[in-house]
Amino acid sequence: MHVLVLGAGVVGVTTAYYLSQLGCEVTVIDREHDVACGTSHANAGQLSYSFTDSLAKPDFISQIPGLLLGRDPGSRVRINPRLVGWGLQFLAQCTARNAAKNTLALLAIAMRSAELMADFKQRVSIEFSHRPAGKLILITDKNELRSAENSCALKRANGCDTHILTRQEAISIEPAVEELNEDFIATVYSETDNVADARQFTMSLREHLESSQQAVFRFNATVHAIQTEQNRFKGIILDKDCVVADAIILCTGVQSAGLLRPLGIRLPIYPVRGYSVTLPTSRGSPSVSITALRRRFVISRLGDRMRIAGFADFVGASKEADQVRIRELLQLARHIAPGAADFDATDHQPWAGNRPMTPNGRPFVGASDIKGLYLNAGHGMLGWTLAHACAADVAAAVVR
Ligand SMILES: Cc1cc2nc3c(=O)[nH]c(=O)nc-3n(C[C@H](O)[C@H](O)[C@H](O)COP(=O)(O)OP(=O)(O)OC[C@H]3O[C@@H](n4cnc5c(N)ncnc54)[C@H](O)[C@@H]3O)c2cc1C
Repeated sequence: MHVLVLGAGVVGVTTAYYLSQLGCEVTVIDREHDVACGTSHANAGQLSYSFTDSLAKPDFISQIPGLLLGRDPGSRVRINPRLVGWGLQFLAQCTARNAAKNTLALLAIAMRSAELMADFKQRVSIEFSHRPAGKLILITDKNELRSAENSCALKRANGCDTHILTRQEAISIEPAVEELNEDFIATVYSETDNVADARQFTMSLREHLESSQQAVFRFNATVHAIQTEQNRFKGIILDKDCVVADAIILCTGVQSAGLLRPLGIRLPIYPVRGYSVTLPTSRGSPSVSITALRRRFVISRLGDRMRIAGFADFVGASKEADQVRIRELLQLARHIAPGAADFDATDHQPWAGNRPMTPNGRPFVGASDIKGLYLNAGHGMLGWTLAHACAADVAAAVVR
């Protein structure tokens, strides 16, 4: 069975791996010159198996006025008709019931991904700076604490190892948090969360798949249209040629909605822009990942580099403010965690990317209404975390 994987981000390349394991002939196609040139390029690197909390939750509603009035430094909003449509669907998910349902659905995928990652590491020997780092989330007020306690209890009841620590307990696990300029009253700690470099993983896995002839990669190949006949997938139209195959899996992140619209399939995936800066470590760099929830940024150690990533801008895919936002992220991180990285280094690497967000935070994984056309898109803030389980599921659906 010849299967096309459209999109060579972390989701697409992991999907190619699981398809090859099931005996498929796989061709991965991407418009860029290499793998991981999209959102998978320089994300925070966190395998947040325990922090699957839905962004859409009752607390979010009280943040909306501040967001719209530009009072939240961690978020910018530019209203447009598409955002209004997506935002209304997002608001419908902000009930306690939906938030719990979505958090647990993501938790189940994340926990399976953790198991599959462990299995993958036994089978495939590639380097991607994978480390069992643990994760601390800073809690700064009583409302956040109440919400975190509820969420931890819900997830613990469903098999997840996450709990609240006092400030002192957090310092004993990661001494670097004592140096933070942030008045946190408690933390959420998840020992089993990991870090790893998504781009390094994607690049190394591509090499592995190519050298073992388990997949063929085609770059600089933009797909302009997906062809169907009698409601069945037929092929794709590229710049200069067409490719036919038995099936296709769309792993095109934020671009998925645009590719599917001509086929009458509407996916509510909205780009939520975020930024990162990669810096050398310093003597005070934490080993445990730290998330400053209220400030909307995270700090992760990836090998011998520190990655500072964050912000959630609802500005479409606009790159207009990237330089300013990256500067703001760096200034904020330097202020809150001055010892976390070598902020004076000249070789820091700035980056911006779009999270493919769905209103309920859950990805679209599996068959579409068109035979032979499958989806693995819309992983939002957790694409790296969820990659293995989603890839295994969609590959299984194709060969079923
Ligand atoms: C600042 C930031 C921090 C993040 N931190 C984390 C984190 O710590 N942990 C985590 O789990 N997730 C994190 N994420 C989210 C994660 O990075 C994404 O969910 C994930 O990268 C999505 O992967 P993807 O493969 O679906 O998309 P992409 O990596 O964007 O890949 C899609 C590919 O499709 C290709 N493509 C699109 N259209 C076409 C076309 N017409 N023809 C040919 N090719 C096409 C693109 O070129 C691209 O290569 C973060 C995101 C951001 C922005």
